[in-house]
Amino acid sequence: MEPSAPITQDVMTFPRKETPSDKINLVGLTRDALRQTLIENGTPEKQAKMRTGQIWQWIYQWGVRDFAEMTNLAKDYRAMLAEKFEVRVPEVVSKQVSEDGTRKYLVRIDGGHEVEVVYIPEEGRGTLCVSSQVGCTLTCSFCHTGTQKLVRNLTAAEIVGQVMMARDDLNEWPERGAPKDETRLLSNIVLMGMGEPLYNFENVRDAMKIVMDAEGIQLGRRRITLSTSGVVPEIHRTAEEIGCLLAVSFHATTDETRDVLVPINKKWNIEKLLDALREYPKATNSERITFEYVMLKDVNDTDEDARRLVKLLDGIPAKVNLIPFNEWPGAPYKRSSNNRIRAFATILMQAGYASPIRTPRGEDIMAACGQLKSATERARKSRRQIEAEAGLQAQ
Ligand code: SF4
Repeated sequence: MEPSAPITQDVMTFPRKETPSDKINLVGLTRDALRQTLIENGTPEKQAKMRTGQIWQWIYQWGVRDFAEMTNLAKDYRAMLAEKFEVRVPEVVSKQVSEDGTRKYLVRIDGGHEVEVVYIPEEGRGTLCVSSQVGCTLTCSFCHTGTQKLVRNLTAAEIVGQVMMARDDLNEWPERGAPKDETRLLSNIVLMGMGEPLYNFENVRDAMKIVMDAEGIQLGRRRITLSTSGVVPEIHRTAEEIGCLLAVSFHATTDETRDVLVPINKKWNIEKLLDALREYPKATNSERITFEYVMLKDVNDTDEDARRLVKLLDGIPAKVNLIPFNEWPGAPYKRSSNNRIRAFATILMQAGYASPIRTPRGEDIMAACGQLKSATERARKSRRQIEAEAGLQAQ
């Protein structure tokens, strides 16, 4: 089925749906938690495993939200489910579509908070950039999200819900009985949106387990990349408990510079981080760790930086993603020149490291790397400020 027609650049806003009910949302529960919740709410224990499997498939394989449509369940059981439970995903507040097809969604989660999610279509694949926190625990100085204080961690429901919301928008749910269509518009997930995923480990883990489940959304672990700024104690655990690919927000080759760009470096410096990465059990030549390196003019982009980076990566199955800096309002940095970025990449490639230069996507809608922030928050503030200044609010 064709995905819904993109309308370039316009901000499509969507009316607010009814406020969330006090029903239990089944989205985001692990299989065990779902089974337990069904038992606690009236499903006989000896049936619970089978019911769990059936409901799981309806929710995650077929994208069904209405219990009445779960036709392999008895009518009265469906009625009981509808009374106590709901299948709810984050609500789309607005959607912007870039000239290059990139889609940026602003979604509302419980408590009225908003996070941004970005879908990047490419030839033969499509990547969803998923957020894990409202705002961020950290304050990386090149990142727009870093200027937004942490409001809270997203729940597993709100993380997997972003994937489900995007599949809705892309009409990507398979049709029951229709021949299996292997092409996927949403084929990859990167945990590179708002927030530091390893400061929300359990929810990220549970959400990705649901996404990887073979009887649901069925995205393999090698199609999921988790990006961390360097929460060293959780790196090994990522391999053990999630098993996805790993990326590191590296961005500098000296502690002095990285302390400024990625302040978590003051807690776990380059040496400690690289030691943890050398031990990363999942790192192999076919599953290299991605080192993200934002190219900042006259900050971290010299030939010497490139040569130092080569030395630092020694012994780690690695590739480097060079990210031309995407400016945002008030950003204290400038993007390196294309020649400088190419020169930097050449030194890495000559040393044997794949170092693709990332093509900025969705810049025209502030959807590129490091540009995400709940812009609505700031916009609304300024409107409120305007009203306050105009004394409008007093009326
Ligand atoms: S780069 Fe990542 S960890 Fe750093 S402030 Fe931005 S969202 Fe947070």
